[in-house]
Amino acid sequence: MSGGTLAERVLTGDRRAVARAISMVEDGADGLAALSEALYPETGRAYTIGLTGSPGVGKSSLAAGLVGASRGRERTVAVLAIDPTSPFTGGALLGDRLRMQSHATDPGVFIRSMATRGHLGGMALAAPEAIRILDASGKDLVIVETVGVGQAEVEVATATDTTLVVVSPGWGDPVQVAKAGILEIADVFVVNKADKEGAQDAVRDLDQMLRMGPRTAWTPPVVRTSTVTGEGIDDLWGAIERHREHQDASGRLAEKRRRRVFDEVQGMVAERLRRRVGDLLIEEEGLAEDLAERRVDPYRAAAILLERVGRTRPSDGAAKESHA
Ligand code: GDP
Repeated sequence: MSGGTLAERVLTGDRRAVARAISMVEDGADGLAALSEALYPETGRAYTIGLTGSPGVGKSSLAAGLVGASRGRERTVAVLAIDPTSPFTGGALLGDRLRMQSHATDPGVFIRSMATRGHLGGMALAAPEAIRILDASGKDLVIVETVGVGQAEVEVATATDTTLVVVSPGWGDPVQVAKAGILEIADVFVVNKADKEGAQDAVRDLDQMLRMGPRTAWTPPVVRTSTVTGEGIDDLWGAIERHREHQDASGRLAEKRRRRVFDEVQGMVAERLRRRVGDLLIEEEGLAEDLAERRVDPYRAAAILLERVGRTRPSDGAAKESHA
């Protein structure tokens, strides 16, 4: 292939190379270790925004609104739409792409949906890799949109610099928000569909909940938006900027990023160990038998396995495993 290695082409912002690199992440393909090694020093420049909330609240529409806001400010932007629950890219995400069509021909915009097919360790480990590829490709902003508010989605959305939690009238009920456990993760609350009745009630409920919560250095603002009328999109942009400045000034952003990559590495190692121990339990038939027959207790078995993992070298699958 002309024009250098895949990593080199990603670094020039070559769209096809970026798309291919993200497919490699989805598949857990061989070659990811080399790609990661080449790209990692060139990352850390993009600012990342996570969008989470129940299906239908308007996350895709807001992502499109934020793309417009970025381009209006001459920032380049990538959107990564993620569906952690589905092994394949679903119809909903296709719809997302269609809504983004006004930006489809803009070279400063890159939109991609993503599912995990072969990536061991799931979306929580795949998403940061994909985000780094977009970062390395030179986008100023990376927006990560997840489909729902399940555990995996929340993990992905919070692995960003600013997490937006989106609600809409009818979904602003405090009990529901508290139940979903998303009050804690929001850096900015968005009450979307402000053109509809009930938006003001949702804002009031959220404000009330926030007042009742613990005092923190940053109180998440509640922003009203409508992607239909365009109301509030600039306010949302402003809230994101303020959060960014707040984190920059306090050193929290650097600290958060540092912690995030540590967590990621820990997750990778844990996943590899989990697989290795699983293999060992199958290989060591005697131990499995001893456990089943109660000749060896689980604590002892765990100690034996840990000791063996320490002594043995992973098999040839290591290269692939290293991306698990
Ligand atoms: P997502 O599932 O959270 O990504 O939500 P979508 O962006 O796909 O939007 C779900 C539906 O709500 C679509 O029919 C949108 O056209 C509609 N919608 C999105 N934003 C607004 C808004 O601000 N006002 C109104 N009235 N409808 C909206």
